[in-house]
Amino acid sequence: MAQLILMPGKERSAFKRHPWLFAGSVGRLEGRARPGDTVEVLADNLRPLGRAAYSPKSQIRARFWTFDADESVDDGFFKRRVAAAVARRQVLPELRGQEGLRLIHAESDGLPGVIADQYGDTVVVQLTSAGADKWRKAIVAALVQATGCQRIYERSDSDVRGMEGLESATGWLLGEARDEPLSILENGVRLAVDVAGGHKTGFYLDQRDNRQLLGQLSAGKDVLNCFCYTGGFSLQALAGGANSVLSIDSSGPALVQARANLALNPQLPADRAHWQEADVFQALRDFRKDGKLFDVIVLDPPKFAPSASHADRAARAYKDINILGCRLLKPGGLLMTYSCSGGIGLELFQKIIAAAALDAGREARIVRRLAGAADHPVALNFSEGEYLKGLLVQVD
Ligand code: SAH
Repeated sequence: MAQLILMPGKERSAFKRHPWLFAGSVGRLEGRARPGDTVEVLADNLRPLGRAAYSPKSQIRARFWTFDADESVDDGFFKRRVAAAVARRQVLPELRGQEGLRLIHAESDGLPGVIADQYGDTVVVQLTSAGADKWRKAIVAALVQATGCQRIYERSDSDVRGMEGLESATGWLLGEARDEPLSILENGVRLAVDVAGGHKTGFYLDQRDNRQLLGQLSAGKDVLNCFCYTGGFSLQALAGGANSVLSIDSSGPALVQARANLALNPQLPADRAHWQEADVFQALRDFRKDGKLFDVIVLDPPKFAPSASHADRAARAYKDINILGCRLLKPGGLLMTYSCSGGIGLELFQKIIAAAALDAGREARIVRRLAGAADHPVALNFSEGEYLKGLLVQVD
């Protein structure tokens, strides 16, 4: 096994169990290693630190598989890590029996570069790093063993694969497509999941709890759901007894799926749902001109800041939509506002929303802090990554 020897002082992040080693921390590679190969990581005094997947093309030069320098990274290793991730979720009561469930949340489950989402009897995997790609067979076999699922679809088409020098890879790894669409039941609402054509692995499972909360807030309310994608929030609002639900997305196909999802739920009052294909920034300005007001507004945009270097522009975009959101609320109205930008931490996000409320001329308070669901854990030592953060804000 090749050895990756760090620059002096650069072992500190490994002591804190941060799973990434940036190119600038690496002193030298002794021996030969191809992309994805496992290397031994040593401090510059040659103290062993663990084993990592080597990524020569990426600025994240290596990702630790293990901080135990004696642990072999082999089929058995992936079997243990995958089984542990699946078992971890069964401990949490709200996750038991969910038809849609994130099984592996990458670094936060000790498996950098590995995402796995279960939708019914199908598991969708996304492999985003050279190391994860190298071990695909072991990871898939471990998923089959841990879940009993015989249908595995790969959605390794995320942009970050490019940074690893990997091509995109999609298709059935086990089993094949069925005629009838795949769907999940989420808190009483049926939602179709297009694993091949949908965003990410097909659906945004991390918002499950927040969609349920919206349902609980919606009785008798006029709800505006911005960036609605396939209508997950919208349908929960209808199920919760909303007076009206207006949903906006710029994606035509997402709205087609959203309407189809509504049709999958004949128990919901379809006449209270309205869909609009538009740019949210423009639509909110138009509502303002028309003097439209809402009781509850959801703002769940795509990530505006993929990394810290985009934070300034992204902050401006978050502020703009949140100013508009605050202005469009009736007195006492609620804003459910989110960011999934890795480059924007919770503290900064709160400041942006505070500034937005101020500019909108509204007194506002946080009534609840919102996060991703429990199957999207965030490792304590790992604050990077596009974890979801949100605030429920009430305006006067
Ligand atoms: N809230 C959704 C997930 C939102 S994903 C859920 O719970 O499932 C973000 C969505 O924003 C995508 O569907 C994308 O098509 C849409 N989008 C991106 N930019 C947009 C814009 N400027 N205006 C409207 N929609 C936009």
